[in-house]
Amino acid sequence: MAVLDQLTSQQAIDLENKYGAHNYHPLPVVLSKGEGVYVWDVEGKKYYDFLSAYSAVNQGHCHPKIVGAMVNQAQTLTLTSRAFYNDMLGKYEKFATEYFGFDKLLPMNTGAEAVETALKICRKWAYEVKGINENEAQIIVCKNNFHGRTTTIISFSNDPVARKNFGPFTDGFIKIEYNNLQALEEALENNDNIAGFMAEPIQGEAGVYVPSEGYLAAAKALCEKHNVLFIADEVQTGIARTGQLLAVNHENVQPDILILGKALSGGAYPVSAVLANDSIMNVIRPGNHGSTFGGNPVAAAVAIAALEVVKDEKLAENAERLGKIFREELAEFAKENELVTLVRGKGLLNAVVINDTEDSSTAWDICMKLRDNGLLAKPTHGNIIRFAPPLVMNEEQLRDCINIIKKTITEFKK
Ligand SMILES: *Cc1c(COP(=O)(O)O)cnc(C)c1O
Repeated sequence: MAVLDQLTSQQAIDLENKYGAHNYHPLPVVLSKGEGVYVWDVEGKKYYDFLSAYSAVNQGHCHPKIVGAMVNQAQTLTLTSRAFYNDMLGKYEKFATEYFGFDKLLPMNTGAEAVETALKICRKWAYEVKGINENEAQIIVCKNNFHGRTTTIISFSNDPVARKNFGPFTDGFIKIEYNNLQALEEALENNDNIAGFMAEPIQGEAGVYVPSEGYLAAAKALCEKHNVLFIADEVQTGIARTGQLLAVNHENVQPDILILGKALSGGAYPVSAVLANDSIMNVIRPGNHGSTFGGNPVAAAVAIAALEVVKDEKLAENAERLGKIFREELAEFAKENELVTLVRGKGLLNAVVINDTEDSSTAWDICMKLRDNGLLAKPTHGNIIRFAPPLVMNEEQLRDCINIIKKTITEFKK
């Protein structure tokens, strides 16, 4: 087969299976085009995208303003490395720090890199500002977290599939229960070596676990009391997904360190960032940290455009409004359908819990039927289906999708 031949879905899947490492288990659908809330497979079938590349495509597929900014910049200057200055990075840093309300930004590419960066900043702050003895700093994290895939990050994961045979692991992390303030208080109280507390404002990968109201604000207050940095991993929840610009905004919390990725580029390009105020970020000095591609001009141009789209098109407001409709409709449906236990979430980050054992394939099988009916979603851990469409969806499209979901589950037979 010639490289340029149009593949069938099966041919594309076979190629990936034969020549690609098997580090994912994709739903069998092969996409070749996207626009707004829609994607098309290689046979031309159209689908609603209800995953949005794990909330990277909040602004919709191939948003013309974002793609325009990317093409423009790609034709002008793509990469200088940070060995030299470029004329886009500073503009982006000014724009993004004002946008999110921090003094400084450190640019990286992927979410995992931004998490690593935040952990390094937090440790350095602990030694140089807080005064913890070198190599003794500890960072509190939560059970069932998902922060990425590097060796250090999986060191504090409790997902056996993500960890098994990747040791030895990185020391210096304490794991506590999520959404448990008493556990946080105990961990803070018995230990002078705590540098930070890192959490997802909603645990996305774990199955869209929304903490109790007030949890984030109270956790931040506890951190302040103990002179510990509150690190919010908003790689998935940030950038309008949950109905506010950041999920911490629901509780008026300003994290000490903010981690962003995914929708920071609208899914056009890998762009991530860590934001903090000077008292923290100034511990980073030349040579301490870096990335060849981090802060490149294309990333800077794309991120500015992606963030402008969020405000111009009022995506947070739209996510808030449509999310309410989605949960109301599916909660009503759950009452009469025994396969659906409950629906939970915030804004347009929602999950439907399927009434079956964790190891059954029911959620997967329902996702296969949803695919047949023109809607793409993916199970997360356990028997849970995450529903997270692009935030540019309108109400008519959402109601169409709700009907597809209800019809599919109603007709579903194990
Ligand atoms: C996706 C995700 C990451 C990792 O981002 P990558 O770009 O895949 O490295 C980190 N934290 C959270 C909360 C995420 O959802």
